[in-house]
Amino acid sequence: MDSRIIKLIQKYETSGPRYTSYPPAPVFKPEFTSTQYQSEILQVEKQPDGNNVSLYFHIPFCDSLCYFCGCTTMITRNREHLDEYLVHLKKEINLLAPLLNEERNIVQLHWGGGTPTFLSPAQIRNLGTHIMGAFQYEVDAEISVEVDPRELTFNHLHALRDVGFNRISLGVQDFNPKVQRAVNRNQSEFITRQAIAWSRELGFSSLNVDLIYGLPLQTIESFSETLDKLIEISPERVAVYNFAYVPWLKKQQKLIHAEDLPSPETKLGILALTIDKLTDAGYVYIGMDHFAKPDDELTIAQKSKTLSRNFQGYSTRAGSDLYGLGMSSISHFGTTYAQNAKTLDAYYQAIGDGEFATHVGYKMTKDDVIRKHVIMKLMCDLSLQKHEVDSRFGITFDDYFASSLLKLDSLIENGLLIATPDALIITNDGRLFLRNIAMCFDAYLSEKPKTQSLYSKTV
Ligand code: SF4
Repeated sequence: MDSRIIKLIQKYETSGPRYTSYPPAPVFKPEFTSTQYQSEILQVEKQPDGNNVSLYFHIPFCDSLCYFCGCTTMITRNREHLDEYLVHLKKEINLLAPLLNEERNIVQLHWGGGTPTFLSPAQIRNLGTHIMGAFQYEVDAEISVEVDPRELTFNHLHALRDVGFNRISLGVQDFNPKVQRAVNRNQSEFITRQAIAWSRELGFSSLNVDLIYGLPLQTIESFSETLDKLIEISPERVAVYNFAYVPWLKKQQKLIHAEDLPSPETKLGILALTIDKLTDAGYVYIGMDHFAKPDDELTIAQKSKTLSRNFQGYSTRAGSDLYGLGMSSISHFGTTYAQNAKTLDAYYQAIGDGEFATHVGYKMTKDDVIRKHVIMKLMCDLSLQKHEVDSRFGITFDDYFASSLLKLDSLIENGLLIATPDALIITNDGRLFLRNIAMCFDAYLSEKPKTQSLYSKTV
């Protein structure tokens, strides 16, 4: 990593949203009720020519706590909790399914967590069969699940295939045992390779592997070995996330020894190495933190400018309406965001009463819709055409975003962005600063600078 980029990192180091949504989740309001959620669903679903539908199911249980974890999960060894959870999840499915327009099929479905494979094979079949009976899938639907190789059996994966799953996403984070110990996630290379071999044997069509850089005890050399092993495994997609160290928000991160964290220079060295090694190995760098093989749908979507961003990161199914089910899950359809209760008690109480478990929500304004479009174009396409934004929303870009454009000046001077009379184009160096560039268009950060402490470091 050259010294110029390191200086720029020091200059632009700040906290900011990851823009899996706009506005970001801290803006959602508690006044948004389950009744409002239901009436917004009915509004969207009665429109002719509506969008396709994506479903997200949250399974908020894990066997043990990874110290870096930023997810909403509960640590338990007691599998009996799951039966009660599945009863409520199925009730929520039964509340939602009748509200959906019969002509709109499911194009994307994802189980995340927590650890979906905390479910037993019988529970996977039970829940999967219930979902398949309640919703109508598109023939080529992407049906994916997050898999933890620890305590995974062949039968778990077999059950997932039996209920329609065709993609898996596997958490590895780092192959190095010392790094794994420092974050309390001991996962031998053998079990990771075994899980991948089983998934290939069972015919999962796409494998994604998640890595994280910025974890304690990581060095450029140690991560280089992790990358070599990953390249040999040759997954279709790789996500390499920047570790979001926010111990003031995520208590478990206090268990990480701060002095073991790599310096900003080492982190950036790891990122530079990752980009070099994966692109040399034939992967295409997608957006901010994803890599995919040239014939993967993610690469094709980036080339055709149809990539989108949702709560799981980058997605090929732009414009679909997302309904999130389960504790803490987030929905986004039309101009509505809604998040379910973040505790099991509150979730069970609402669903047991026959209501949606909406905890917070948000109805976007016209300004939100315009800014979201601009931010997502930059995050996904790495460029935008001002005339496209003008004709879509009936504005004059340079006037509407005059104050945002002023904030871009220093990023342009530093070679991170090119501005022409009609376009903004992010340079190769600028990809490392995508969140900083997007923040210039975020109305909520300029209104409330204090909210930045709710977010992780941008680079
Ligand atoms: S990182 Fe994944 S497996 Fe680890 S505690 Fe968090 S949700 Fe569970």
